[in-house]
Amino acid sequence: MYRTNTCGELTLSETGKKVVLCGWVQKSRDLGGMTFIDLRDRYGITQLTFNMEVNSSLCEQARTLGREYVIQVEGVVAERYNKNKNIPTGDIEIIVETITVLNEAKLPPFTIEDNTDGGEELRMQYRYLDIRRNAVKNNLLFRHKLSMEIRNYLSEKGFIEIETPFLISSTPEGARDFIVPSRMNEGKFYALPQSPQTFKQLLMIGGMDKYFQIVRCFRDEDLRADRQPEFTQVDCETSFVTQEDVLQTFEGLYKDLFQKMKGITMEDFPRMTYDKAMNTYGCDKPDIRFGMPFVELTELLQHRHFAIFNDAEYIVGVCAENCAGYTRKQLDALTDFVKRPQVGASGLVYLQCNEDGSFKSSVDKFYTQEDLQAVASKCNAKAGDLILILCGKKEHTQKSMCELRLEMGNRLELRNPNLFKPLWIVDFPLFEWDEETQRFYAKHHPFTAPKPEDEYLMETNPIAVRANAYDLVINGVEVGGGSVRIFQRETQKKMFKVLGFSDEEAQKQFGFLMNAFEYGAPPHAGIAFGFDRMCAVFCGVDSIRDFIAFPKNNAGKDVMINAPSTVSKEQLNELNIISTVKDIQ
Ligand code: ASP
Repeated sequence: MYRTNTCGELTLSETGKKVVLCGWVQKSRDLGGMTFIDLRDRYGITQLTFNMEVNSSLCEQARTLGREYVIQVEGVVAERYNKNKNIPTGDIEIIVETITVLNEAKLPPFTIEDNTDGGEELRMQYRYLDIRRNAVKNNLLFRHKLSMEIRNYLSEKGFIEIETPFLISSTPEGARDFIVPSRMNEGKFYALPQSPQTFKQLLMIGGMDKYFQIVRCFRDEDLRADRQPEFTQVDCETSFVTQEDVLQTFEGLYKDLFQKMKGITMEDFPRMTYDKAMNTYGCDKPDIRFGMPFVELTELLQHRHFAIFNDAEYIVGVCAENCAGYTRKQLDALTDFVKRPQVGASGLVYLQCNEDGSFKSSVDKFYTQEDLQAVASKCNAKAGDLILILCGKKEHTQKSMCELRLEMGNRLELRNPNLFKPLWIVDFPLFEWDEETQRFYAKHHPFTAPKPEDEYLMETNPIAVRANAYDLVINGVEVGGGSVRIFQRETQKKMFKVLGFSDEEAQKQFGFLMNAFEYGAPPHAGIAFGFDRMCAVFCGVDSIRDFIAFPKNNAGKDVMINAPSTVSKEQLNELNIISTVKDIQ
C-alpha cells in the first residue's frame, strides 16, 4: 500500500496513529536542530517533522530532498506546537520515521505556489506543473463538481446523455470548420462538429425526447481570451416543448447550480427583448449589475448649429452618477478610451451637472444652459452627475457606447464579481444582413424557427422576422443560447432560400435533415451552454483558459506538446492530401 492517508485529511483525532503519506515536497525549512517539510498532494499539505537529536541521519536525509521530489514517508501523527489555523491539517504534524524517495525532480522552471513567478508562456509549456498549483487545481475541481451537478439535475429531469460523432461533415454555425482528411475515402474530408446541432435534432426525430451531452465542439475562429478552438458545451434538446418550457427548465438548472455551487438563492431571471437590450445597453448581452441605461438624444440635440450632432444619425448619452467632479485628465482619459480602435468613436462630448445647478459641457459654444438642462432631465441626471455623449451611425455608436458604459462600470467598481445578475434575452431577429457579402445570415443558426406570427414575412421582409430564439446572459457574458427549431420540410426550405441556398444545394448539404422531417418529426427546441465559460462566470473570472486543463494559446497552439505540428510526407501521401492538393491546382 502506497499510502494510508492523503495530505489533506489528518487532524488531532488521529494523534498517535501510524500513517504512510505520499506527495511532493512543497518546501522545507531547516531550523538548526529541526527540519520541517511541507508535503503536498491534491488534497492538501501536511507538515513533516525531523528532529536532529532524535534521528540525525534521517534529518540529514530530509535535508537532501529538493522541491517537488516525490516521496513516501512513514511516521506518527502528533499535535503541533505552532498551529496553523489556515489549513485543515494545521493542528498536526507527522514525526517521520522513514523516507522513501519515489522520484527526484529537477528544479521547476517557476515556483509552484499561489503567487508564482512563472509567466503565461512558461506555465503553459509546463502545464503539468502549473496544474499542481492551487489556482489551477481548484478550478479543475470546480469544473468537475459543476459538471456533476449539471448531470445530476438533468438526469433527474429525465434527460439522457447521448454521444454524437466527432467526424462529421460541415455544419453551418457561422464559424470555420476544422477539417480531417479521410484516408479511406480519397479526396474526401470530415469536419469536426461546431456543435451537435443537427444530431440532437435527429435524436428528437428518433424519439429520445430529452437529450443532453457535455460535449467538445470545434470552431476555427480567430482567438481571444475567452475563446478556444475546442471548447465544451452543455448541449440540450427536448421534444414537445415551447420556448417557455425551455426557459423554465434551464432557469431551474441555473438556480440549482447557484444554490449548490455558490450557496445563493436566485430570484426569477428577468427577460428582455433583443430590441430593448440593443436600445438600452447597445448589445445583446448587457451587464445589468449596474444601471446607466442609454438615453437617445438625437432629436433633443439637433436644433442648434453644432454640425457634428446635426449630421449624426444617432446621438446617445449615459449618466454617470456623482462623476461631475471628473478632472480634465480623467475626461481626457475617457476620450482616449472611446477613440481606441476597438471602441471606434471619433470623440466624446461631456456634460457636467454642477452642484450649484449650472451645467458645463464640451459643447457650451453651441448650447444654452436651458438646452443642457433639457439633456440632463432627459437623462435623469441630478446635480453632481456626469453625462457622456457619443454620436454617429446608429449601430456603430451603440457599440461604442456599450464599451464606454462597461468601462465606466469598471471605473466606478459597479461590476462586483460576487454579484450575479442573469437575464434572458428573447425575440432575436431570425436573420441579419451582411453588407460585405450582400446576403442574409441566420442570426442564431439556420434551424431556428420563425415566430409563427412572423413567418409570413420570410419572403417579403426577412429582416423583420423574429425568432423564438433566446440567450442566457450573466453579468454581461452570454453563457448560452438556443431556439425553437424548424421541424417541417417546407419551412426549412424557405429558410435556406432566404439564406441564398438553391434547392439543390440545400438538398445536398441538409437533405438528411429535411428528409428526416418527412418521417414524423416532433416539434422540438433546445439550448446549449458554453461550459468553460459557465465555470469562469460562476467564479467571477474573465478567461475560460483557467478552467481548461490543457488550453491553447492565442495563436491556437498547445506549446507543451507543440501542436499543431508538421507531419511527414508519407502521412500526407497516405491521406491523399498531396495528390488532392495537386488535383485542385
Ligand atoms: N447549437 C447551438 C450553438 O452551438 C445551440 C442551440 O441552438 O441549441 O450555439
